[in-house]
Amino acid sequence: MSPDVSAVRIQRRPPESPLADVMGGAARWEVGVHEHGFIALVDVMPRLVPQGLSADSAIVQAARVSYGQGTKRVHEDRGLIRYLMRHRHTSPFEMVELKFHCRLPIFVARQWIRHRTASVNEYSGRYSILPDRFYRPATDDVRAQSEANRQGGDEPVDDLAAAEFLDYLDRVVASHQRYEALLARGVTRELARIGLPVNVYTEWYWKCDLRNVFHFLSLRLDPHSQQEIRDYALAMYALVEPVAPLACEAFLDYQLEALQLSRLEVEALREGRAAPATSNSRELAEWQAKRRRLGLEE
Ligand SMILES: Cc1cc2nc3c(=O)[nH]c(=O)nc-3n(C[C@H](O)[C@H](O)[C@H](O)COP(=O)(O)OP(=O)(O)OC[C@H]3O[C@@H](n4cnc5c(N)ncnc54)[C@H](O)[C@@H]3O)c2cc1C
Repeated sequence: MSPDVSAVRIQRRPPESPLADVMGGAARWEVGVHEHGFIALVDVMPRLVPQGLSADSAIVQAARVSYGQGTKRVHEDRGLIRYLMRHRHTSPFEMVELKFHCRLPIFVARQWIRHRTASVNEYSGRYSILPDRFYRPATDDVRAQSEANRQGGDEPVDDLAAAEFLDYLDRVVASHQRYEALLARGVTRELARIGLPVNVYTEWYWKCDLRNVFHFLSLRLDPHSQQEIRDYALAMYALVEPVAPLACEAFLDYQLEALQLSRLEVEALREGRAAPATSNSRELAEWQAKRRRLGLEE
C-alpha cells in the first residue's frame, strides 16, 4: 500500500542569504593520474552554501546545532573546526559528502576497496567489455625492493631490470587480444576477463564522507602506501582542499603531519633517555624516525 501523504504539508523556504555552488558551477573537477587514469570530483554535499563560505560551513553548522547558534564569522569557524579536529569530534566532518568518479588499475582498486565506509558502484566486466587499457609505469618509476619497507620499493632499479620488467608487462598486456578473440568465439565476458592481469583499468563511483576521506588520505598519502595509490590520494586531496579548505588545513596540522608518541616514548623524553624502554627493533627504528622529525637527531 502506498503511504498516504495527502495531509503532509511541505514548507519550501528561500535561503536566508544568496547561495553559491562550492564547485563553481562545474559538472566535474577532474585530475589525470598516470597515462590512463583519473579521479574526478562529481558532486559534493553541501553543494550550495552561503556566498563567501565553503563546505566547511556544514561542519560548523552541525557542531553548533547542540547550542542553537548559526554560522559565525569565518575566523571563528576556523577555530571551531580546528578544535573539533584536535579533539577527534568526528561526526561534524561526516556532514560533508564527496562523490568521485575514478578510473584506476585493479591492483590499486584492491587496496582502495579496503576502505569500508564508502559507497561504491564499479564497472562490470560481466556486462561490458574491458577496454584495452593497462597501467605501465615509466622506466624511472620501476622501483627496487626497499630494504627498510618490506612491503614497498623506493629507488629505481637499474635500466636492464626496468627493461625486463616492462617487457614482462607488455607480454601480459597482450592477453587483451586473446580476451577479445575469446569474446568473438562466444566465451562469456564473465569468464573471458579472468585471464586479464591486475594492471587492467576499472572505473567506479566512490562516495564517502569527509571524516573517512581524511582517514583514507592519512593512510594512502603515507610513504608506507604503494606509490600508485598515493598518486590517486594526492589528486583526491587536491580536489577536496578547495571544497573544504578549513577542514583540510586542520587535517594537515592535527592528523597528517602530526606526530603521535607512545607512553614509553613520552617517558623517555621526560626522563632524558635516548630510547624508550623496549627491545622491539621496529619500535626503536620508529622512535629514531620520530626523533629526526623532532630535530633531536641528524
Ligand atoms: C600501508 C598499508 C599496508 C597494508 N597492508 C595490508 C596487508 O598486507 N594485508 C591486508 O589485508 N591489508 C593491508 N592493508 C589494509 C589495512 O589493514 C586496512 O584494511 C585499510 O587500510 C583500511 O583501513 P581501516 O580499516 O582503518 O579503514 P576503513 O575501512 O576506511 O574504515 C574507517 C574506520 O571505520 C571504522 N570501521 C570500519 N569498519 C569497521 C568494522 N567492521 N568494525 C569496527 N570499526 C570499523 C574503523 O575505525 C576504521 O578505522 C594495508 C594498508 C596500508 C595503508
